[in-house]
Amino acid sequence: ISDITGTKELERLRKLDQMKTEFLSTVSHELRTPLAAIKAYSESIVDSLEILDEETLKDFMLTILNEADHLQNLLDEILDFSRLEMKTLNIKKENFSLNELIEEIYISNKNKAEANGIKIYKVLPKENIIVNLDRTRVKQILSNLIDNAIKYSDKRKDMKFVKITLKSEDDKVLILVEDNGIGISKEHHEKIFEKFYRVDSSLTYEISGTGIGLSVVKELVEIQGGKIWLKSVEGKGTRFYIEFKKGK
Ligand code: ADP
Repeated sequence: ISDITGTKELERLRKLDQMKTEFLSTVSHELRTPLAAIKAYSESIVDSLEILDEETLKDFMLTILNEADHLQNLLDEILDFSRLEMKTLNIKKENFSLNELIEEIYISNKNKAEANGIKIYKVLPKENIIVNLDRTRVKQILSNLIDNAIKYSDKRKDMKFVKITLKSEDDKVLILVEDNGIGISKEHHEKIFEKFYRVDSSLTYEISGTGIGLSVVKELVEIQGGKIWLKSVEGKGTRFYIEFKKGK
C-alpha cells in the first residue's frame, strides 16, 4: 500500500471520486429544474383551469412537454453512460446512407439553431456514402455534437453558425461538426472526453450540463470502430472530426 499511497494513480482516483460527487450534485440539480417547472405548470392548470384561455393552456402544456423531453434526454444519457461503463450497451449495425442521416439531423436541428440565432449549414458530397454502423447511435453522436455547438455558441458574435460536413476519403468517411462558438483552450482538448469533465470558465459558468456527453460520444464512436478528435481555438470556435470506415 505504501507504494501506492501518494502516487499519481491514487491522486487520479481521488480526483475522479471528487468529480463523481460533483456529478451527482449537478445531475440532481439538472433533474430538479425541469421537474420543478413541470410541477409548477401542472399546478397552475389544475388550480386555474376555468379561467385559462385555450392559448395559454396550450402554452403551459407545451412547456410541460418540453421540460419532460429534457428530463427524458438527461435520463437516457445517464442510462447510456452506465451501460457503457458496464459494457452492456448493444450496437445494432445496418447499412444506411450517411447523406440521408445528415439531411435528417439537419432538418430536426434547424429550428432549435435558428431559435438561438444560429445559422446551420450542411455540406454533403454528391456520392451517396453507405456505412455499416448503428444508425440510431450515429444520430445520437452527431445530435450531441450539434447540441453542444449550439449550447456553447458565442453570445458576443453577430453571425453564429454550426456547419456539418460529410467527406469521402478512399475507404473512410469523415464527418465534421464545426462552430464559431466560445472555443476550448488547448489544455482542455484531451480532458473534455473524460467522464464528468467540464470546462470551468467565465463563459461556461452559466451553461448547464453534466460532463458525460462527450465521454458517451467518444465511447459510441470507438465501439463502432471509429475515431474522434477536435481542433479548437478559444474565442474562435471548435471543429470535431469523426472518422468511420466506409462499406457494407
Ligand atoms: P456538458 O454536459 O458539460 O456539456 P460534455 O461532455 O458534452 O458535457 O462536454 C464537456 C465540456 O466540453 C463542456 O463542459 C464544454 O466546456 C466543452 N465543450 C463541448 N463542446 C463544446 C463546443 N462545441 N464549444 C465549446 N466548448 C465545448
